[in-house]
Amino acid sequence: MSSVFDQLPAVNDVLAAPAIIKMGDQFGHAFVKQIIRNTIDYERRGLIDKSITETSLVKVIDGSLRAIEVAARPSLRSVINASGVILHTNLGRSVLSPVIRNEIEDVAFNYSTLEYDLRQRSRGSRYGHVTDLLKELTGAEDALVVNNNAAAVMLVLDTLARDSEVITSRGELVEIGGSFRVPEIITSVNGRLHEVGTTNKTHLSDYEHAINEQTGAILKVHTSNYKIIGFTQSVDESELIALAHQHHLPLITDLGSGLMVYLQQFGITDEPTVAATLQFSDLVAFSGDKLLGGPQAGIIVGKKEYIDQIKKNQLLRALRVDKLTLAALEATLRIYRRGDQEAVKEIPVLKMLTIDHGELQQRAGQLRKLLEQIDGLTVAIVAGSSEVGGGTFPGLELPTVLVEIETPQISTTQLEQQLRGGIRPVIARIQNDHLQFDIRTLITGDIEAIAKKLRVILND
Ligand SMILES: *Cc1c(COP(=O)(O)O)cnc(C)c1O
Repeated sequence: MSSVFDQLPAVNDVLAAPAIIKMGDQFGHAFVKQIIRNTIDYERRGLIDKSITETSLVKVIDGSLRAIEVAARPSLRSVINASGVILHTNLGRSVLSPVIRNEIEDVAFNYSTLEYDLRQRSRGSRYGHVTDLLKELTGAEDALVVNNNAAAVMLVLDTLARDSEVITSRGELVEIGGSFRVPEIITSVNGRLHEVGTTNKTHLSDYEHAINEQTGAILKVHTSNYKIIGFTQSVDESELIALAHQHHLPLITDLGSGLMVYLQQFGITDEPTVAATLQFSDLVAFSGDKLLGGPQAGIIVGKKEYIDQIKKNQLLRALRVDKLTLAALEATLRIYRRGDQEAVKEIPVLKMLTIDHGELQQRAGQLRKLLEQIDGLTVAIVAGSSEVGGGTFPGLELPTVLVEIETPQISTTQLEQQLRGGIRPVIARIQNDHLQFDIRTLITGDIEAIAKKLRVILND
């Protein structure tokens, strides 16, 4: 007696299909075979629960090919950020400048001078490649680079405040991105947190009274991802530095954001630069992939005597940066050397932060024009605001231009979901049941890619 299950093909028959063989060559035969098994299983379950009435070799081959294509995509891959959040930690924070592509490639696909001194024909320093640039750009006596800013702060405290007290204002005991909490960082290096002041007010005298023979350092934390407003007072580094030095203590600033150029002329105030902060701190730590616009890294700049001590810390070996990071960081810093104007033009994070309204409107017009050619799509340009993100500029809303779409074919949520799937996912916004693309965070080629993707989704 024949049964519907006889229609299920054997794995080997599916494997013999030329298109499947090609997939196997490209992505791995064991991987392809497993997906074929899953596809056959899926069909079998469909026959059992009668959600399907028939199957065939051709159907399983087609289904397998589609499943292989999806499963074979790299997990970590690029997306189009139309959310308007410039430093979106979940989307990889800063986008590197395209002008540094060659420098990264040169180091990635060749042997390099990573720890080799060409003149001396001997071992060189991995950290030296960016030291001079960082000194030059920030006015620091010395610099050191580690894996990220969390590591930088940990390393600094482990070196200067291990087994001693770290004085910090209660208004600055921040949590950043869930895993970085100032109190826990201090205890993790066996330091003891000595909190001073209150959540909204801390005075210089609070610090002064807290200093004792157990004190190892004073830590200032840039409250980068929130703002306390109203009846507030905090003590600036400029006031604290004298107190710290009077007691022979280092003043450490966890700055986080790492802004290298003044942006006042673009109407962006309130965010201190690294150089300005360093004038009144012994050490400043900041991220490479926030407002600096480089790769993920933790950068420490400041007094040579302290950096020398940090260099001797065994932890440094565990937190060291790799050559791709250093290549990207050196190349990014070299853009800053060409001047502020160049930096704002060539570094995507700064460009997105300072882009003028006219340019946003002009690019929104380009996107609208492409989208209007798609059948059944209603397109509008509306005003809105973008966020800087990444724990910087809390509360700052940048006026932006949004392209908004609507279609009777599918719902806004379905459309948003489909944009997030497939090749070149697009991360868009939904506001008042409308799908919106924020022009600010789009990079070269994104406008065309969004239009192309919508064409595919809407079968135009
Ligand atoms: C972002 C931030 C950190 C953490 O930096 P990572 O580079 O993400 O490790 C620490 N402190 C402050 C103040 C920050 O803004």
